[in-house]
Amino acid sequence: MRTEALLLLLLAAAPATAQQEIRFGVLGLFHPKELILQPEGSQVLSVMAQDVAENQAVALNGEPGHCMIVFRAEGDRVVAGDRSAGSWTAAARDGGAAAFRLTVPGKLHRVYLGRLTIQARKGELLAVVAMDRETAVASIVAAEMVENAPMEALKAQAVATRSFLVAGPRHLDFDFCDTTHCQFLKSPPASTSRMASAVQATHGLILAYHGKQLAAMYSSRCGGQTRSLRDVGLNPGDAYPYYSVRCQWCLRHPATWQSRIGASGQPPQPGDERRRIAEARQWGWGAIPGSDFKATAEGEGWRLEGHSVGHGVGMCQFGAAGMAAAGAGFREILSHYYPNTELIEQP
Ligand SMILES: [Zn+2]
Ligand SMILES: [Zn+2]
Repeated sequence: MRTEALLLLLLAAAPATAQQEIRFGVLGLFHPKELILQPEGSQVLSVMAQDVAENQAVALNGEPGHCMIVFRAEGDRVVAGDRSAGSWTAAARDGGAAAFRLTVPGKLHRVYLGRLTIQARKGELLAVVAMDRETAVASIVAAEMVENAPMEALKAQAVATRSFLVAGPRHLDFDFCDTTHCQFLKSPPASTSRMASAVQATHGLILAYHGKQLAAMYSSRCGGQTRSLRDVGLNPGDAYPYYSVRCQWCLRHPATWQSRIGASGQPPQPGDERRRIAEARQWGWGAIPGSDFKATAEGEGWRLEGHSVGHGVGMCQFGAAGMAAAGAGFREILSHYYPNTELIEQP
């Protein structure tokens, strides 16, 4: 989860409904002008042009001549073959979730389980996948954690991820994006995977603060001490303030990063998250990966050296894995990194 998230954290989120289907804007990072849609496995996809007079569904069943559709953006229209439409949808034949593969030519492909809508904005395709909440949680845990992470750390991640989703949408055209701006989302893991088990074992559990769903922040490596919102220059108001807690695993396993930025004038200030985001935009996210660092003048610019990776607010993923390896359960991990919160059921 990237730090811009912090700045938006204090904006009121719309209340979420039970049994929700969540809409993810996917692959937007690649600014695709073309996308290839294919059914996955034995799935039959029903593809329809919307907002056109003749909107006969096209079946994609993987057989020759029916194994893929190439969508192209033309201004605000989406063209497939010789047909142009305001938007296209793809789903199972009963209109429900389907397994499909989306490819950004020359870049990558991902598999999704959900209902797809493709629109175009100024020559770029906008692909939105509506998926079941728990499928989304599993797809994010699979992207955020390594498969061999301890089970209790996977469970803690699943709860944090679900809480973030339940706490409400963060975009206008869809609910969440698939990058670290919201949470990283890839293909769903196999139903027999450890990630899927962790999601199932914590089904419906979320974090709450004063009875309200918490859009739980987390970051990869805190460097030994997590940060409160005030520590990163934000006023929490009535929202969860986050707390600065010690992280033994990071303290015992310090890792250092170094970078150089060619800035003249004032060096970046550690701890100030707004400024770090502005500077990371200018110099690249790799230039200031964490908010806790030391800046030393060097030549025309500054040499930065730090221990933390990410904003350091909320759960430390590295520390959570360490606590789990040392025998802690996911409830203990969550109450350590999110003091004064409670676990509640969100069916
Ligand atoms: Zn986002
Ligand atoms: Zn840590």
